[in-house]
Amino acid sequence: MNVHIIRDEHCPLAVYQNVFDKLSKSAGLIRFVKSKDDALIQDDTDDMFDEKERKPINKYHFLSFSQLYDICENYRKKHNIDTNDHVFLLSGANNYQNWFSNMDHERNNYFVQVTEWELFFGAELEVSFILCYQVMAWLLKRKLFSSETEVMDAVHKKAKGCMMDFCENKRDITLKIRTADLCPDCLNTIKSKDVPLNFLNQVFSLWEEIRKNIAFRERAEFLNRMGRMIINPPRKTLLFPDYGDIVVKLQPKEMAFYQLFISEPYGINLHNLIDHAMTLKDYYFKITGNDDIAAIENIYAINDNVASQLISKINKKLVDNLGKTLASYYTIERPLNEPHKIRINREYVSLSS
Ligand SMILES: [Zn+2]
Repeated sequence: MNVHIIRDEHCPLAVYQNVFDKLSKSAGLIRFVKSKDDALIQDDTDDMFDEKERKPINKYHFLSFSQLYDICENYRKKHNIDTNDHVFLLSGANNYQNWFSNMDHERNNYFVQVTEWELFFGAELEVSFILCYQVMAWLLKRKLFSSETEVMDAVHKKAKGCMMDFCENKRDITLKIRTADLCPDCLNTIKSKDVPLNFLNQVFSLWEEIRKNIAFRERAEFLNRMGRMIINPPRKTLLFPDYGDIVVKLQPKEMAFYQLFISEPYGINLHNLIDHAMTLKDYYFKITGNDDIAAIENIYAINDNVASQLISKINKKLVDNLGKTLASYYTIERPLNEPHKIRINREYVSLSS
């Protein structure tokens, strides 16, 4: 079963990438296929990331359901997608009906809105988990019901923390996603429909991860507790296993720079960066593996101006992925009258290769 995940120009690339990474990590019957319109970061090199962002037409964009499905249809035509394949649009547009997501039963097309979730879950939310929940829920609904009427007959008007909650009051969606579960009635429906076990396993294990993530995040914020971070220089990633395996991807230069700040718990004054050039160069070469002159110049060209830009890029990625509160342990900040530093207790930091 192929499921193509695509995005429109209103869905940020970082959101798309996070959703796709999480979905494609799940094992089972569903095979997630990357959008052919996006050259996603495979082997990211410095200064490539920003150019891949598409320009939105305008900020407040409304589309009808059929316009959203048309985007899926156009994608099918353009890339010759098999009619049995499913096409899922991550859309940054609002729709007139004010729904978060829906499906076109006739043609296996779907959309999920990527914006406005923070109105219900708060700004600390990592939106990709919710989007993954929606993707899995619609694929399961597609397996269980063959028409929109069938879906509407099966929904629960009164929310009970089940996938089939209708959520007329949009606020009820928080209950549905925090439980990421099915009620006994719906489980019985599944039993009667002969849904393949490896399909169900894939849905349930991803939901489990979502639940874990949301619960941990809420408690971590409440308890003000920090989670572990695993730095992987060759892959240029920061992994947060305690927050539901969130992965933050950095560019080579950002990675080297971040490692330098991790290695200096007492912080670095940006004016003295040149004193750390050798260490920085060392980290950089370990990541890129090249030893050319241009790369050396690249590193020595990191003056405090460039450094500030690097810091704000790194910090933005951390905040986008972890939310402001949790990210504050890992971002490079400058406390009053002190050099730039990363707050996280280094006992929570480990290196993987
Ligand atoms: Zn139910």
